[in-house]
Amino acid sequence: MPLESLNNKKIRMRYVLDKLKNEYPNSKCSLNYNSPFQLLVATILSAQCTDERVNKVTFNMFKNYPTVFKLNELSQKEIGKLIYSTGFYNNKSKSIKKLCEILISKYNGEIPKTMDELHELPGTGRKTANVVLGNAFNIPGMVVDTHVTRITNLLKFVKTINAVKIERELEKIVPHEDWTLFSHLLIDHGRATCIANRPKCQDCILAEYCPSKK
Ligand code: SF4
Repeated sequence: MPLESLNNKKIRMRYVLDKLKNEYPNSKCSLNYNSPFQLLVATILSAQCTDERVNKVTFNMFKNYPTVFKLNELSQKEIGKLIYSTGFYNNKSKSIKKLCEILISKYNGEIPKTMDELHELPGTGRKTANVVLGNAFNIPGMVVDTHVTRITNLLKFVKTINAVKIERELEKIVPHEDWTLFSHLLIDHGRATCIANRPKCQDCILAEYCPSKK
């Protein structure tokens, strides 16, 4: 495919977004939460784990420990027991315990609303910070996960697996108000059709805009 201008990418992206919005009208974050804090914890737990499994774990956890203050009453070991089945429970429990302590001591139990502040919190990379900004605070955030990385490369909107570069490239061609939704749409499409290693191109609503269609 010859080098595509930024303008053409923007136009192609508009068609892709229309198709995706039409196909997945209820696309949204699949983690369950009732507050920014719960979303932050759930997103930390979702690393290397399915959202379905995380929702099972957080269902009981948030029922008994819904706030940062309640969860902070537990030791790291106790948190580890609660989240054991999400995998990497040692690292995750360490991050969550430290997170609770910092949120209470530095932010009075609130979740900060800027990328710089969020990014400094334990267990909180750019992806997690963007999930929280976009879904809990309605501040558009471009979440780059494995589905977004794979599909935007297949669609030739980007040519890199570097998450920060992908974020920057997509921010140029996806309308600002759609940043948060865009990731949800691609995650839905990655689960339903553009599945890793076995994309169903013959059934794909994006086929006419995809240079990688088979
Ligand atoms: S046409 Fe194929 S490779 Fe392209 S987005 Fe659709 S399923 Fe993925």
